[in-house]
Amino acid sequence: DDEVPWILGTHLSEQCGPLARVSEGSQVLLVEAHDFARRMPYHHHKLTLVFAAMRRFRDRLRAAGYDVTYIQADTFGEAFATFFEDNPESTLVTMRSPSYNSERRLRDLVAEAGGTLRVVENELFASTRRAFDEWANDGGQFRHEQFYRWMRRESGVLMSDSDPAGGEWNYDGENRDVPPEDWEAPSVPTHEHGAVIEEVSAWVREEFDTWGNDELRSFPWPVTRDQARDHLDHFLTERLPAFGPYQDAMRADDWAMAHGLVSGAINLGLLHPVEVIEEVEQTYEERADVPISSAEGFIRQLLGWREFMRHVYRHAMPELATANQLAADRDLPDLYWTGETGMNCLSETVDDVHERGYSHHIQRLMVLANFATLWGVEPSELNEWFHATYIDAYHWVTTPNVIEMGQFGHGVFATKPYVSSANYIDRMSDYCTDCAYDQDANTGADACPFNALYWQFLDRNEDRLRSNHRMGLMYSHVDDKRESGEMDAVRDRVADLRDRATDGDL
Ligand code: FAD
Ligand code: SF4
Repeated sequence: DDEVPWILGTHLSEQCGPLARVSEGSQVLLVEAHDFARRMPYHHHKLTLVFAAMRRFRDRLRAAGYDVTYIQADTFGEAFATFFEDNPESTLVTMRSPSYNSERRLRDLVAEAGGTLRVVENELFASTRRAFDEWANDGGQFRHEQFYRWMRRESGVLMSDSDPAGGEWNYDGENRDVPPEDWEAPSVPTHEHGAVIEEVSAWVREEFDTWGNDELRSFPWPVTRDQARDHLDHFLTERLPAFGPYQDAMRADDWAMAHGLVSGAINLGLLHPVEVIEEVEQTYEERADVPISSAEGFIRQLLGWREFMRHVYRHAMPELATANQLAADRDLPDLYWTGETGMNCLSETVDDVHERGYSHHIQRLMVLANFATLWGVEPSELNEWFHATYIDAYHWVTTPNVIEMGQFGHGVFATKPYVSSANYIDRMSDYCTDCAYDQDANTGADACPFNALYWQFLDRNEDRLRSNHRMGLMYSHVDDKRESGEMDAVRDRVADLRDRATDGDL
């Protein structure tokens, strides 16, 4: 009985899983199924990235001597039927996909095609399911900070003996600077993509109904292992020093700031998170110009948040996908698709996403998700929007980020909603300077919509949020606004904003 590694499009690594355990010359399977790409208006760059990365990986394996069976089909079911017709004695073996229920779904599809599938642990993460479950000890609520410290201790990353490097576990207080006006953002790496990507891009344009820029004029994403390595090296040499201080800052002219831009490559398997973590740590140790806020800030995201999200998703699905504890039921405003709005923070951010299927974390959290939460958008609808429009979006990572962190849908780890008025955006960005709205006004025709929406959000969710001790201060302001009568004006202003949205005039 022959075992044939089946490499998913998000497992493009020769170092991990079944592929790492067979010799060159062995048969391996890749399946390019197209029907999933028709389910949503995906960003053109996302489909181009995934399909180009798979095809380049195929070519690389062939050049290394593997016997690659590459099946292009409408569905996985059709591809398996073809495969098992030609290879009736084979068993497929693959790493578990982090997406909910995928193991059963794929096993069923393989069985329907008359074959068998063996599923093994996914090695493309820094932690295992078992380790997390032992740590969590059946808990139904999870706290990131505790998990993160445990991961630091277990891995020894940024530790000196049993103490955290520098003396503190977390330097997020040093991740909140805003660059001076004359700051120049470090360069963004570029790659020679070659013919394959042009071909894939043209084919995607023909074949699918996509959203977003469908040219390759601003396609910064690595699609091969070599490009991903260059991308990471560039980050370590050019960008890491400024990453920490400006991690939360936003500037209209700098879509990338000093972020890593590596989520796409990591989520496809082109970079292993442990390799990235180790190299960031090593760079910090070797280079005096890399502050601890950069090294720790980055490692917290990758060793902490990314792993945490994967496991929390596992524990909170299937409920998480439709969780909606604030009973938010509004449609996503059209401006998320069109970018047409006088709100500068939103129009700049949607334009960024439209241009290259990416915006950085604070734009995702404090502009896009914040506004949707204040507006009262049904969480699953925003989740679909993120899923379709970002090059790094996969159900397992988008869902906990959008529904829980972004919209406080469930309560499985978030202790309060991440919402804010214009105050936060004004402090952390330069968007408000060029905006049609006044960031300092709550009411009146040109008052920033975030402000009235923020107070009305607290007002309308009082039953759910007032008892939360982390919200106490905010509710004392709500009380003041009610007493002074300002809350009535706030409610009127929100009604007016909703009318304007209906007219496409927000
Ligand atoms: P950097 O800022 O350089 O961070 C380094 C790395 O840490 C990232 O590459 C990523 O691998 C990891 N990371 C950081 N934060 C998170 C997090 N919260 N969850 C998981 N990994 C994290 N990330 C995705 O990979 N796919 C998504 O679809 C996605 N959707 C998001 C939606 C919302 C509403 C929010 C608030 C966050 C989302 N994130 C998502 C997390 C995070 O914003 C992105 O990973 C990050 O912006 C990617 O850009 P970067 O590589 O430049 O990251
Ligand atoms: Fe955004 Fe309000 Fe600032 Fe305009 S004033 S950029 S809408 S926060």
